[in-house]
Amino acid sequence: MPAFYLPPKDWGSKVCLKAPESHHLQVLRINQGEEVQLLDGAGRIGRFSVTSLGKNEVFLEEKSQQTIARPVSLPIIALALSKAVRRGFFLEKAAELGAYQIWLFQGALSQGKVVPGLEEKIRQTLISGCKQCKNPWLPEVRLFPEGLGQLITQLSDIERRILPWELEKTSALIGPEDLGQPGKTLYVIGPEGGFAPQELELLKQARFRRVSLGARILRCETAATLCLGLHWWASHLTKDSAL
Ligand code: SAH
Repeated sequence: MPAFYLPPKDWGSKVCLKAPESHHLQVLRINQGEEVQLLDGAGRIGRFSVTSLGKNEVFLEEKSQQTIARPVSLPIIALALSKAVRRGFFLEKAAELGAYQIWLFQGALSQGKVVPGLEEKIRQTLISGCKQCKNPWLPEVRLFPEGLGQLITQLSDIERRILPWELEKTSALIGPEDLGQPGKTLYVIGPEGGFAPQELELLKQARFRRVSLGARILRCETAATLCLGLHWWASHLTKDSAL
């Protein structure tokens, strides 16, 4: 059954899907009387039937709904801005692998800059990732256009701070103690050009633990996806009740 996103503020027993979600539903040629799933991105999943279809709106009626508890383990990826081409791939995987938040920061060696509308574009990609795999928890997006100096002012409630660094000894491989723990874990991933020395110093002062992801230099999106994949696996081992 296809899923669509309806923000929590629009949720009710009779609801109206607006563009772009209403367009998506019509592209799939779903007709009056058919059932679909709705996700509110904040844990709620409902079965709804289509009562009427307008040009830009679709009206639906609730059949049933449930709320899935938020996972106990909350991975955050802070990814330096890089070429947009492969970012979409990472964002989709991030929605599948249960990222709690995605932080995008301007790295000293980043290609590209935070542009107007970027946050909404990222949100739309995350929404389509959540719809595709029926993840009821939409990752939140935060942008740090002023770079790591700005990012490290936001760490007060983050217990585990991990810095995957390609020049770290492979003996310092990321390990089970870093992964899948309850609460928030932040992984900070540099751009294709890597971290500048002053950024590494800032992260050291902010008590990030440097770890290796293996002997080969990975692309930033691969490193970020790997961290989330390892975290996802490890949080199942700790039997996160929400998984
Ligand atoms: N500056 C490097 C490449 C950076 S790779 C160069 O050009 O040689 C982009 C980011 O991915 C890095 O900043 C790091 O956070 C992460 N990364 C890539 N490979 C890694 C590895 N083997 N171990 C740990 N982190 C890695």
